[in-house]
Amino acid sequence: MVPSCDSNPNSSRFTHCPDCGRPDLKADSFKSFACRSCGFQFFINCAAAVMGLILDDKNRLLVTRRKYAPARGSLDLPGGFADPGEGIEESLKRELAEELNLKAVEMTYLCSYPNTYTYGPVTYPITDMAFICRVESFGAIQANDDVADFLFIPVNALDPLRFGMASARKVISRFKQFSAIKGTE
Ligand SMILES: [Zn+2]
Repeated sequence: MVPSCDSNPNSSRFTHCPDCGRPDLKADSFKSFACRSCGFQFFINCAAAVMGLILDDKNRLLVTRRKYAPARGSLDLPGGFADPGEGIEESLKRELAEELNLKAVEMTYLCSYPNTYTYGPVTYPITDMAFICRVESFGAIQANDDVADFLFIPVNALDPLRFGMASARKVISRFKQFSAIKGTE
């Protein structure tokens, strides 16, 4: 079922038309707005985001600890939002360099899940995409940016419930299934 304008999470905050300035902007659907005065339309489409699944040579997964809200202190996967103008692999390379000082050398798409991210008064719909990656080396790894810390967890000991973000929990579950099928767990 397609969600209706009743489920537009931003309908109470987006009220004034950015074109004509009148207080006539209304939610038109779960993701769109239209101005009743001048006809201006505005869409909040999905933002692309990426996560990296990186194993070391002992079959342990590299996970991070979140430095900031939401879900501060919980486990997470390295990654983040795509910047305008980037391909998604490029975004992952940049995020791994920024957050952990790692250089990704190989990336294989695994899966994607829908998510939402609330920052200030605005809720953004997200498409999270997960890639299995290999990095050049872990020699220079360090926690930077929005990463408080990092740790390596054996794949069979990964508990999705320790991950604060819903889509990271789903990706971890999917990755465990994938590893079990491949017989690498
Ligand atoms: Zn208007």
